[in-house]
Amino acid sequence: MAKRQKIVVIGAGPVGSLAALYAANRGDDVEIYELRSDLRDPSTTPLNFTKSINLALSERGINAMRHAGQPKLIEHVMGATIPMRGRMIHGRRANGALYEESQDYDVHGRSILAIDRGGLNKRLLDILEEMPNVTFFFNHKLTGADFRKNKAWFEVRGNGAATEGQQSREVEVDFDLMLGADGAHSAVRYHLMKYTRMDYQQVYIDAMWCEFQIQPKTTAPDASLYSKFLISPNHLHIWPGKEFMFIAIPSDDGTFTCTLFAPASLFEHLESDPTGAVIPPFFDKHFPGVTALIPPAELIASFHRNPHLPLISIKCNPYHYGSSVVILGDAAHAMVPFYGQGMNAGLEDVRILFDILDKHARMDELSAGADPSASRERALAEYTAVRIPDAHAINDLALQNYVEMRASVLSPVYRLRKFLEEA
Ligand code: FAD
Repeated sequence: MAKRQKIVVIGAGPVGSLAALYAANRGDDVEIYELRSDLRDPSTTPLNFTKSINLALSERGINAMRHAGQPKLIEHVMGATIPMRGRMIHGRRANGALYEESQDYDVHGRSILAIDRGGLNKRLLDILEEMPNVTFFFNHKLTGADFRKNKAWFEVRGNGAATEGQQSREVEVDFDLMLGADGAHSAVRYHLMKYTRMDYQQVYIDAMWCEFQIQPKTTAPDASLYSKFLISPNHLHIWPGKEFMFIAIPSDDGTFTCTLFAPASLFEHLESDPTGAVIPPFFDKHFPGVTALIPPAELIASFHRNPHLPLISIKCNPYHYGSSVVILGDAAHAMVPFYGQGMNAGLEDVRILFDILDKHARMDELSAGADPSASRERALAEYTAVRIPDAHAINDLALQNYVEMRASVLSPVYRLRKFLEEA
C-alpha cells in the first residue's frame, strides 16, 4: 500500500477544484490554497469583477467531470445547463429588415451547454467540503516555492474582501506534489520557470471585452423557464461585425450574458464620450436588434460600470518539474475564449493527468516498496509530452475562431462550405 501523499492545489477555480476532487478521491491529503475569500461568500468579488460569466461547456469538460468519481457532481452540473444546438446569426438585409439565421453545430442535433461558471465552481467547492481529507485555505496567496525542497510560502490576508491595508503574515507549507491551477497570471508558473528551462510565449490580442445583460420578459406567458427568454434560449447568439462582435449566452434565470469583443481602438472611441451617447447608435448600426433587447440607457450604464478587459493567449513548455509540481488549466495554456474551450481544456487536463498518474502508480505497485515520487516523476514527464501538443493546438484554434465568429459566419464561402459538408 503506497504512503498517503500530500497534494497542495493552488487556485480554487474550476480546474483547481476538479483537480482537488480527483486527488481526494484517490485518498491523498489535499490542501487547497486560494488567493481570494470563499466564492460562496456573497461578499467575495467574483473573478473579472463582474456578476458572472456564462460559459459553453462541451463534452471535453463533461467527460472530465464524469470521471471525477462523484455521480452527484455530473447530475447537478447537467441540471444547471441550457443546451445550445447552434449559433443564431443576427443581421440586417439590404432592404433594412432584421433577420435571424440558425446554424446548427451538429448534423445529429447534439448541443453544447451554457453554464454559469460561478455556479459550477460553487458546486465543486460544496462537494470538496464534504470530503474528510480536503482542507481549504482561503485568503492565502502563493508568494514563493522551492521545488527541490518541496516547500511553498503564502501570504495570509485578513478575511473578507477589504484586504487593503490589513496586516498579513507568511506561512510555510510542505508538500509531495503541487498542482498549479492559479490562472493566466500563475504564480506557480512564475516559480516553476526558475527550476526548468521553460519556453514561454504570451500574446495580448487586439481585442477587449465587456459584459452586458439581456433581462427576462417582464410578463412571461407561463411559469416555465423557457417562456421567460426574449430570444431563443437554445442558441449562442452572434451579431457579427467583421472587426468586432456581440454575443449572447443564455442563463438558467431567463437572462442572457452578453459580451462585446472589439479592438482596443473601438473601446477607446466608445469611452471617449463620457455621456455614452455614441453607444446606442453604434449598436443600432452594427448589432441590429440589440437596443430592443437592452434599453439604450442600460447599454450605456453597463459599458461604463463593467470592466473593459484584455484577452491573453499563453503557451509554455514544460508543464512540470521533477516529481514536485505541475501546472494545469489557464496557468498552463490560457487561451482566447472564441473556441469556448479554455475551461473545458483545463478540466480535460485534470482527467488526463490523473489517468497518467494512476497508470504509473499501478506499474509501481508491482514492485513492492517503490518510491511514489519516482513513479510521479515519470508520470509528470509523460503528461507534459502528451498534453502540450494538444493544448497548443486548441490555443491556435481559439485564435482562428475569432475570425470565424466575427466575420466568416457571414461569408458566401462559409455557406458554400457548409452546404458541401452537409450534402
Ligand atoms: P481561473 O478560473 O483563473 O482560477 C484561478 C484561481 O487561482 C482563482 O480563483 C484565483 O483567485 C487563484 N489564484 C490566482 N493567483 C493565486 C495565488 N498566487 N495564490 C493562490 N491562488 C491564486 N472557457 C470555456 O471552456 N468555455 C467558454 O465558453 C469560455 N468563455 C469565456 C469567456 C470569456 C469572456 C473569458 C475571459 C474566458 C472564457 N473561458 C471559457 C475561459 C475560462 O473562463 C477559463 O479557461 C477558466 O476559468 C480557467 O479556469 P482555471 O481554474 O484554470 O483558472
